[in-house]
Amino acid sequence: MAQIVVVQLARGRQERVVEGHPWVFKGEIDKVRGEYAPGDIVTVVDHRGVFLGKGYINPKSQIMVRLLTHHDEAIDREFFRRRLQKAWAHRQRLLPDTGACRVVFGEADFLPGLIVDKFGDILVVQCLALGIDRWLKDIVEILDEMLQPRGIYERNDVPVRELEGLEQRKGFLRGEFDPQLIIEENGLKINVDVANGQKTGYFLDQRENRRAVRPYSKGARVLDCFSNVGGFALNAAAAGASEVIAVDASASALAGVRENAQLNGLADRIETREGNAFDILRQMESANEEFNLIVLDPPAFAKNKGSLEGAVRGYKEINLRALRMIPEGGFLVTCSCSYHMKPDLFKAVVADAALDAHRRLRLVEERAQGVDHPIVVGYDESHYLKCLIYEVI
Ligand code: SAH
Repeated sequence: MAQIVVVQLARGRQERVVEGHPWVFKGEIDKVRGEYAPGDIVTVVDHRGVFLGKGYINPKSQIMVRLLTHHDEAIDREFFRRRLQKAWAHRQRLLPDTGACRVVFGEADFLPGLIVDKFGDILVVQCLALGIDRWLKDIVEILDEMLQPRGIYERNDVPVRELEGLEQRKGFLRGEFDPQLIIEENGLKINVDVANGQKTGYFLDQRENRRAVRPYSKGARVLDCFSNVGGFALNAAAAGASEVIAVDASASALAGVRENAQLNGLADRIETREGNAFDILRQMESANEEFNLIVLDPPAFAKNKGSLEGAVRGYKEINLRALRMIPEGGFLVTCSCSYHMKPDLFKAVVADAALDAHRRLRLVEERAQGVDHPIVVGYDESHYLKCLIYEVI
Protein backbone atom coordinates (compact mmCIF):
# COMPACT_ATOMS: atom_id res chain seq x y z
CA MET A 1 0.00 0.00 0.00
CA ALA A 2 1.20 3.47 -0.79
CA GLN A 3 2.58 5.29 2.17
CA ILE A 4 0.55 8.23 3.50
CA VAL A 5 2.45 11.47 3.21
CA VAL A 6 1.59 14.00 5.91
CA VAL A 7 2.11 17.74 5.60
CA GLN A 8 2.11 19.37 9.02
CA LEU A 9 1.39 23.08 9.25
CA ALA A 10 3.33 25.36 11.56
CA ARG A 11 1.62 26.49 14.76
CA GLY A 12 -1.12 29.06 14.14
CA ARG A 13 -1.12 28.57 10.36
CA GLN A 14 -4.28 26.47 10.02
CA GLU A 15 -6.91 29.20 10.24
CA ARG A 16 -7.26 30.02 6.54
CA VAL A 17 -7.56 26.35 5.60
CA VAL A 18 -10.08 25.72 8.38
CA GLU A 19 -12.16 28.60 7.00
CA GLY A 20 -12.30 26.90 3.62
CA HIS A 21 -9.32 28.24 1.69
CA PRO A 22 -7.86 25.59 -0.64
CA TRP A 23 -4.18 26.63 -0.65
CA VAL A 24 -1.27 25.85 1.64
CA PHE A 25 1.79 28.04 1.03
CA LYS A 26 5.34 26.81 1.45
CA GLY A 27 6.01 29.17 4.35
CA GLU A 28 3.10 27.77 6.37
CA ILE A 29 4.49 24.24 6.51
CA ASP A 30 6.46 22.95 9.48
CA LYS A 31 7.40 19.54 8.06
CA VAL A 32 6.49 16.89 5.53
CA ARG A 33 6.58 13.27 6.72
CA GLY A 34 7.06 10.54 4.12
CA GLU A 35 8.43 10.26 0.59
CA TYR A 36 6.50 11.77 -2.27
CA ALA A 37 6.74 12.72 -5.91
CA PRO A 38 5.53 16.14 -7.10
CA GLY A 39 1.81 15.95 -7.83
CA ASP A 40 1.10 13.17 -5.28
CA ILE A 41 -1.88 13.26 -2.95
CA VAL A 42 -0.97 14.21 0.63
CA THR A 43 -2.80 14.64 3.93
CA VAL A 44 -2.61 18.04 5.62
CA VAL A 45 -2.76 18.30 9.42
CA ASP A 46 -2.38 21.19 11.87
CA HIS A 47 0.51 21.48 14.29
CA ARG A 48 -1.22 19.13 16.75
CA GLY A 49 -1.84 16.53 14.07
CA VAL A 50 -5.56 17.28 13.58
CA PHE A 51 -6.72 16.37 10.06
CA LEU A 52 -7.45 19.36 7.81
CA GLY A 53 -7.75 17.92 4.34
CA LYS A 54 -6.21 16.17 1.35
CA GLY A 55 -4.73 17.63 -1.76
CA TYR A 56 -1.90 17.58 -4.26
CA ILE A 57 1.60 18.63 -3.37
CA ASN A 58 4.07 20.45 -5.60
CA PRO A 59 7.30 21.65 -4.00
CA LYS A 60 8.09 23.67 -7.15
CA SER A 61 5.12 25.96 -6.59
CA GLN A 62 4.69 28.62 -3.90
CA ILE A 63 1.25 27.06 -3.41
CA MET A 64 2.70 23.83 -2.12
CA VAL A 65 -0.58 22.00 -1.50
CA ARG A 66 -3.90 22.55 -3.28
CA LEU A 67 -6.67 20.97 -1.26
CA LEU A 68 -9.28 18.80 -2.93
CA THR A 69 -11.28 17.97 0.16
CA HIS A 70 -11.69 18.79 3.82
CA HIS A 71 -12.88 15.21 4.47
CA ASP A 72 -10.83 12.08 5.02
CA GLU A 73 -11.88 10.31 1.83
CA ALA A 74 -10.09 8.36 -0.91
CA ILE A 75 -8.84 10.45 -3.83
CA ASP A 76 -9.36 8.19 -6.81
CA ARG A 77 -11.12 8.14 -10.15
CA GLU A 78 -14.52 7.90 -8.39
CA PHE A 79 -13.71 10.98 -6.35
CA PHE A 80 -13.08 12.94 -9.54
CA ARG A 81 -16.25 11.54 -11.10
CA ARG A 82 -18.33 12.77 -8.14
CA ARG A 83 -16.72 16.20 -8.27
CA LEU A 84 -17.28 16.54 -12.05
CA GLN A 85 -20.88 15.34 -11.75
CA LYS A 86 -21.57 17.91 -9.06
CA ALA A 87 -20.05 20.71 -11.11
CA TRP A 88 -22.05 19.75 -14.19
CA ALA A 89 -25.31 19.40 -12.21
CA HIS A 90 -24.84 22.97 -10.93
CA ARG A 91 -24.62 24.33 -14.51
CA GLN A 92 -27.55 22.24 -15.71
CA ARG A 93 -29.69 23.62 -12.92
CA LEU A 94 -28.70 27.27 -13.41
CA LEU A 95 -28.08 27.44 -17.13
CA PRO A 96 -30.28 24.74 -18.63
CA ASP A 97 -30.61 26.50 -21.99
CA THR A 98 -27.08 27.77 -22.35
CA GLY A 99 -25.00 26.01 -24.95
CA ALA A 100 -21.75 27.50 -23.75
CA CYS A 101 -20.66 27.64 -20.14
CA ARG A 102 -17.81 26.95 -17.77
CA VAL A 103 -18.36 23.41 -16.50
CA VAL A 104 -15.49 23.45 -14.00
CA PHE A 105 -14.00 26.56 -12.40
CA GLY A 106 -11.00 25.11 -10.57
CA GLU A 107 -10.87 25.67 -6.84
CA ALA A 108 -14.41 27.08 -6.83
CA ASP A 109 -15.62 23.61 -7.90
CA PHE A 110 -13.19 21.92 -5.50
CA LEU A 111 -11.01 20.76 -8.38
CA PRO A 112 -7.95 22.98 -7.96
CA GLY A 113 -6.24 24.00 -11.18
CA LEU A 114 -8.85 22.50 -13.52
CA ILE A 115 -10.81 24.53 -16.05
CA VAL A 116 -13.39 22.94 -18.34
CA ASP A 117 -15.37 25.09 -20.76
CA LYS A 118 -18.21 23.83 -22.92
CA PHE A 119 -18.74 25.42 -26.32
CA GLY A 120 -21.76 23.68 -27.81
CA ASP A 121 -20.72 20.04 -28.17
CA ILE A 122 -16.99 20.74 -27.80
CA LEU A 123 -15.15 20.80 -24.47
CA VAL A 124 -11.96 22.72 -23.77
CA VAL A 125 -9.78 21.60 -20.87
CA GLN A 126 -7.00 23.46 -19.11
CA CYS A 127 -4.78 22.15 -16.26
CA LEU A 128 -3.08 24.88 -14.28
CA ALA A 129 -1.51 22.67 -11.58
CA LEU A 130 0.74 19.63 -11.73
CA GLY A 131 -1.52 17.68 -9.39
CA ILE A 132 -4.50 17.89 -11.73
CA ASP A 133 -2.41 17.44 -14.88
CA ARG A 134 -1.58 13.94 -13.63
CA TRP A 135 -5.29 13.06 -13.57
CA LEU A 136 -5.98 14.45 -17.03
CA LYS A 137 -6.46 11.07 -18.70
CA ASP A 138 -9.12 10.02 -16.14
CA ILE A 139 -10.79 13.43 -16.30
CA VAL A 140 -11.04 13.30 -20.08
CA GLU A 141 -12.57 9.79 -19.92
CA ILE A 142 -15.10 10.84 -17.29
CA LEU A 143 -16.06 14.00 -19.22
CA ASP A 144 -16.42 11.93 -22.35
CA GLU A 145 -18.84 9.53 -20.64
CA MET A 146 -20.71 12.23 -18.76
CA LEU A 147 -21.22 14.90 -21.44
CA GLN A 148 -20.66 12.86 -24.59
CA PRO A 149 -19.05 15.76 -26.45
CA ARG A 150 -18.18 15.64 -30.15
CA GLY A 151 -14.63 16.39 -29.16
CA ILE A 152 -12.29 17.66 -26.44
CA TYR A 153 -9.50 20.19 -26.96
CA GLU A 154 -6.61 20.93 -24.60
CA ARG A 155 -5.57 24.58 -24.10
CA ASN A 156 -2.55 24.02 -21.92
CA ASP A 157 -0.61 26.76 -23.72
CA VAL A 158 -0.52 29.05 -20.69
CA PRO A 159 2.66 30.44 -19.10
CA VAL A 160 1.43 29.92 -15.48
CA ARG A 161 1.97 26.19 -16.02
CA GLU A 162 5.68 26.86 -15.89
CA LEU A 163 5.39 27.97 -12.25
CA GLU A 164 4.21 24.40 -11.62
CA GLY A 165 7.06 22.88 -13.62
CA LEU A 166 4.70 21.94 -16.45
CA GLU A 167 5.32 22.31 -20.17
CA GLN A 168 2.96 24.25 -22.46
CA ARG A 169 0.94 22.33 -25.02
CA LYS A 170 -2.32 22.38 -26.94
CA GLY A 171 -4.20 20.04 -29.23
CA PHE A 172 -6.97 17.48 -29.62
CA LEU A 173 -7.62 15.10 -26.72
CA ARG A 174 -10.73 13.45 -28.24
CA GLY A 175 -11.74 13.50 -31.87
CA GLU A 176 -10.49 15.84 -34.57
CA PHE A 177 -12.73 18.70 -35.51
CA ASP A 178 -12.75 22.21 -36.90
CA PRO A 179 -11.67 24.35 -33.93
CA GLN A 180 -13.77 27.23 -35.26
CA LEU A 181 -17.31 26.83 -33.99
CA ILE A 182 -20.42 28.90 -33.62
CA ILE A 183 -22.02 29.04 -30.19
CA GLU A 184 -25.20 30.73 -29.06
CA GLU A 185 -25.22 33.23 -26.22
CA ASN A 186 -28.06 35.52 -25.19
CA GLY A 187 -29.76 34.58 -28.47
CA LEU A 188 -26.76 35.71 -30.53
CA LYS A 189 -24.42 33.65 -32.67
CA ILE A 190 -20.77 33.93 -31.68
CA ASN A 191 -17.76 32.55 -33.54
CA VAL A 192 -15.37 30.81 -31.19
CA ASP A 193 -11.93 29.56 -32.09
CA VAL A 194 -10.99 27.08 -29.38
CA ALA A 195 -7.48 26.60 -30.78
CA ASN A 196 -6.43 30.24 -31.23
CA GLY A 197 -8.93 32.44 -29.38
CA GLN A 198 -7.79 34.13 -26.18
CA LYS A 199 -7.79 31.89 -23.05
CA THR A 200 -10.00 28.88 -23.90
CA GLY A 201 -11.55 30.61 -26.90
CA TYR A 202 -14.12 32.99 -25.47
CA PHE A 203 -14.68 34.86 -22.18
CA LEU A 204 -17.72 33.10 -20.77
CA ASP A 205 -17.68 34.93 -17.44
CA GLN A 206 -19.27 38.07 -18.94
CA ARG A 207 -22.38 36.35 -20.39
CA GLU A 208 -24.86 37.84 -17.93
CA ASN A 209 -23.14 41.24 -17.90
CA ARG A 210 -23.31 41.42 -21.69
CA ARG A 211 -27.04 40.81 -21.48
CA ALA A 212 -27.30 43.41 -18.72
CA VAL A 213 -26.31 46.25 -21.09
CA ARG A 214 -29.41 45.72 -23.21
CA PRO A 215 -31.83 47.98 -21.29
CA TYR A 216 -29.35 50.86 -21.58
CA SER A 217 -28.66 50.40 -25.28
CA LYS A 218 -31.83 51.36 -27.16
CA GLY A 219 -31.10 54.24 -29.49
CA ALA A 220 -27.70 54.72 -27.86
CA ARG A 221 -24.34 55.56 -29.39
CA VAL A 222 -22.11 52.91 -27.78
CA LEU A 223 -18.38 52.44 -27.26
CA ASP A 224 -17.26 48.88 -26.43
CA CYS A 225 -13.71 49.32 -25.23
CA PHE A 226 -11.51 46.20 -24.92
CA SER A 227 -14.14 44.45 -26.99
CA ASN A 228 -12.35 41.21 -27.86
CA VAL A 229 -14.74 39.54 -30.34
CA GLY A 230 -17.54 41.96 -29.46
CA GLY A 231 -19.60 40.32 -26.74
CA PHE A 232 -20.88 43.63 -25.36
CA ALA A 233 -21.07 45.36 -28.75
CA LEU A 234 -23.34 42.65 -30.18
CA ASN A 235 -25.73 42.74 -27.24
CA ALA A 236 -25.93 46.53 -27.44
CA ALA A 237 -26.58 46.46 -31.19
CA ALA A 238 -29.16 43.68 -30.84
CA ALA A 239 -30.96 45.76 -28.22
CA GLY A 240 -31.29 48.69 -30.61
CA ALA A 241 -28.13 50.78 -30.28
CA SER A 242 -27.92 53.24 -33.16
CA GLU A 243 -24.15 52.92 -33.56
CA VAL A 244 -21.50 50.81 -31.83
CA ILE A 245 -17.73 51.22 -31.99
CA ALA A 246 -15.65 48.25 -30.80
CA VAL A 247 -12.07 48.98 -29.78
CA ASP A 248 -9.35 46.39 -29.21
CA ALA A 249 -5.59 46.13 -29.65
CA SER A 250 -5.90 42.74 -31.32
CA ALA A 251 -6.57 42.65 -35.07
CA SER A 252 -7.82 39.07 -34.91
CA ALA A 253 -10.25 39.92 -32.09
CA LEU A 254 -11.66 42.74 -34.25
CA ALA A 255 -11.90 40.43 -37.25
CA GLY A 256 -14.01 38.32 -34.89
CA VAL A 257 -16.22 41.33 -34.10
CA ARG A 258 -16.87 41.89 -37.81
CA GLU A 259 -17.64 38.20 -38.43
CA ASN A 260 -19.99 38.11 -35.45
CA ALA A 261 -21.71 41.33 -36.53
CA GLN A 262 -22.24 39.79 -39.98
CA LEU A 263 -23.49 36.50 -38.55
CA ASN A 264 -26.18 38.32 -36.58
CA GLY A 265 -27.19 40.82 -39.25
CA LEU A 266 -25.80 43.72 -37.21
CA ALA A 267 -22.89 44.72 -39.45
CA ASP A 268 -24.47 48.02 -40.45
CA ARG A 269 -24.33 49.28 -36.86
CA ILE A 270 -21.02 47.94 -35.57
CA GLU A 271 -17.64 49.30 -36.59
CA THR A 272 -14.20 48.40 -35.26
CA ARG A 273 -11.16 50.44 -34.36
CA GLU A 274 -7.81 48.80 -33.75
CA GLY A 275 -5.28 50.23 -31.31
CA ASN A 276 -4.32 50.91 -27.75
CA ALA A 277 -7.52 51.80 -25.91
CA PHE A 278 -5.67 54.38 -23.79
CA ASP A 279 -4.67 56.27 -26.97
CA ILE A 280 -8.03 55.88 -28.66
CA LEU A 281 -9.94 57.10 -25.60
CA ARG A 282 -7.64 60.15 -25.46
CA GLN A 283 -8.13 60.89 -29.17
CA MET A 284 -11.89 60.49 -28.96
CA GLU A 285 -12.02 62.76 -25.96
CA SER A 286 -10.03 65.50 -27.70
CA ALA A 287 -12.36 65.17 -30.68
CA ASN A 288 -15.28 65.86 -28.27
CA GLU A 289 -16.96 62.57 -29.08
CA GLU A 290 -20.01 61.64 -27.01
CA PHE A 291 -21.47 58.24 -26.15
CA ASN A 292 -24.65 57.28 -24.31
CA LEU A 293 -23.07 54.03 -23.17
CA ILE A 294 -19.43 53.11 -22.71
CA VAL A 295 -18.25 49.63 -21.73
CA LEU A 296 -14.75 49.24 -20.28
CA ASP A 297 -13.59 45.64 -19.93
CA PRO A 298 -9.79 45.72 -19.80
CA PRO A 299 -7.52 42.76 -19.13
CA ALA A 300 -6.35 42.32 -15.51
CA PHE A 301 -4.16 45.37 -14.85
CA ALA A 302 -3.18 44.04 -11.41
CA LYS A 303 -1.80 40.53 -11.78
CA ASN A 304 -0.48 40.62 -8.21
CA LYS A 305 -0.46 42.85 -5.13
CA GLY A 306 2.75 44.56 -6.25
CA SER A 307 1.24 45.91 -9.45
CA LEU A 308 -1.85 47.33 -7.74
CA GLU A 309 -0.64 50.94 -7.65
CA GLY A 310 0.01 51.02 -11.40
CA ALA A 311 -3.30 49.25 -11.96
CA VAL A 312 -5.19 51.88 -9.98
CA ARG A 313 -3.70 54.57 -12.25
CA GLY A 314 -4.70 52.58 -15.33
CA TYR A 315 -8.30 52.06 -14.18
CA LYS A 316 -8.56 55.69 -13.12
CA GLU A 317 -7.38 56.93 -16.50
CA ILE A 318 -9.74 54.90 -18.66
CA ASN A 319 -12.71 55.59 -16.39
CA LEU A 320 -11.93 59.30 -16.32
CA ARG A 321 -11.68 59.55 -20.10
CA ALA A 322 -14.82 57.49 -20.61
CA LEU A 323 -16.83 59.56 -18.13
CA ARG A 324 -15.84 62.81 -19.84
CA MET A 325 -17.49 61.49 -23.01
CA ILE A 326 -20.76 60.45 -21.36
CA PRO A 327 -23.34 63.24 -21.10
CA GLU A 328 -26.08 63.35 -18.46
CA GLY A 329 -28.44 60.40 -18.76
CA GLY A 330 -25.77 58.16 -20.23
CA PHE A 331 -24.31 55.00 -18.71
CA LEU A 332 -20.87 53.62 -17.87
CA VAL A 333 -20.36 49.87 -17.63
CA THR A 334 -16.98 49.41 -16.03
CA CYS A 335 -15.32 46.08 -15.29
CA SER A 336 -12.24 44.79 -13.50
CA CYS A 337 -11.18 41.18 -13.60
CA SER A 338 -8.25 41.66 -11.22
CA TYR A 339 -8.90 39.89 -7.94
CA HIS A 340 -6.45 42.29 -6.23
CA MET A 341 -8.64 45.21 -7.22
CA LYS A 342 -11.20 44.67 -4.45
CA PRO A 343 -14.78 45.90 -5.01
CA ASP A 344 -14.48 48.82 -2.58
CA LEU A 345 -11.20 50.00 -4.06
CA PHE A 346 -12.61 49.74 -7.58
CA LYS A 347 -15.64 51.82 -6.60
CA ALA A 348 -13.35 54.38 -4.98
CA VAL A 349 -11.30 54.64 -8.20
CA VAL A 350 -14.45 55.24 -10.26
CA ALA A 351 -15.65 57.83 -7.73
CA ASP A 352 -12.29 59.58 -7.99
CA ALA A 353 -12.46 59.54 -11.79
CA ALA A 354 -16.00 60.96 -11.66
CA LEU A 355 -14.87 63.79 -9.44
CA ASP A 356 -12.09 64.73 -11.85
CA ALA A 357 -14.45 64.40 -14.82
CA HIS A 358 -17.06 66.63 -13.11
CA ARG A 359 -19.69 63.94 -13.35
CA ARG A 360 -22.16 62.80 -10.68
CA LEU A 361 -22.92 59.12 -10.73
CA ARG A 362 -25.60 56.77 -9.57
CA LEU A 363 -24.62 53.11 -9.14
CA VAL A 364 -27.44 51.26 -10.88
CA GLU A 365 -26.10 47.73 -10.80
CA GLU A 366 -23.29 46.02 -8.97
CA ARG A 367 -22.52 42.77 -10.74
CA ALA A 368 -19.96 39.97 -10.68
CA GLN A 369 -18.99 37.03 -12.87
CA GLY A 370 -21.55 34.58 -14.26
CA VAL A 371 -23.09 31.83 -12.14
CA ASP A 372 -20.92 29.22 -13.85
CA HIS A 373 -17.91 30.86 -12.15
CA PRO A 374 -19.01 30.28 -8.53
CA ILE A 375 -17.79 32.37 -5.61
CA VAL A 376 -16.73 30.35 -2.57
CA VAL A 377 -16.94 31.81 0.92
CA GLY A 378 -13.51 31.56 2.52
CA TYR A 379 -11.81 31.57 -0.88
CA ASP A 380 -11.86 35.25 -1.78
CA GLU A 381 -9.83 34.76 -4.95
CA SER A 382 -12.90 33.15 -6.52
CA HIS A 383 -14.61 36.57 -6.61
CA TYR A 384 -12.51 38.27 -9.24
CA LEU A 385 -14.83 39.99 -11.70
CA LYS A 386 -16.53 43.27 -10.91
CA CYS A 387 -18.98 44.85 -13.34
CA LEU A 388 -20.45 48.14 -12.20
CA ILE A 389 -23.15 50.00 -14.11
CA TYR A 390 -23.37 53.72 -13.40
CA GLU A 391 -25.74 56.35 -14.66
CA VAL A 392 -24.39 59.84 -15.21
CA ILE A 393 -26.88 62.14 -13.44
N1 SAH B 1 -15.12 42.47 -23.46
C1 SAH B 1 -14.63 41.22 -23.95
C2 SAH B 1 -13.46 40.64 -23.19
C3 SAH B 1 -12.28 41.58 -23.06
S1 SAH B 1 -10.80 40.78 -22.66
C4 SAH B 1 -15.76 40.20 -24.01
O1 SAH B 1 -16.89 40.51 -23.61
O2 SAH B 1 -15.52 39.09 -24.46
C5 SAH B 1 -9.67 42.09 -22.81
C6 SAH B 1 -9.38 42.53 -24.23
O3 SAH B 1 -8.53 43.68 -24.15
C7 SAH B 1 -8.63 41.53 -25.09
O4 SAH B 1 -9.39 41.29 -26.24
C8 SAH B 1 -7.31 42.22 -25.47
O5 SAH B 1 -6.95 42.00 -26.82
C9 SAH B 1 -7.65 43.67 -25.25
N2 SAH B 1 -6.55 44.56 -24.89
C10 SAH B 1 -5.55 44.36 -24.01
N3 SAH B 1 -4.82 45.48 -23.84
C11 SAH B 1 -5.37 46.42 -24.65
C12 SAH B 1 -5.09 47.80 -24.91
N4 SAH B 1 -4.08 48.43 -24.30
N5 SAH B 1 -5.88 48.45 -25.76
C13 SAH B 1 -6.92 47.83 -26.38
N6 SAH B 1 -7.23 46.56 -26.16
C14 SAH B 1 -6.47 45.84 -25.31
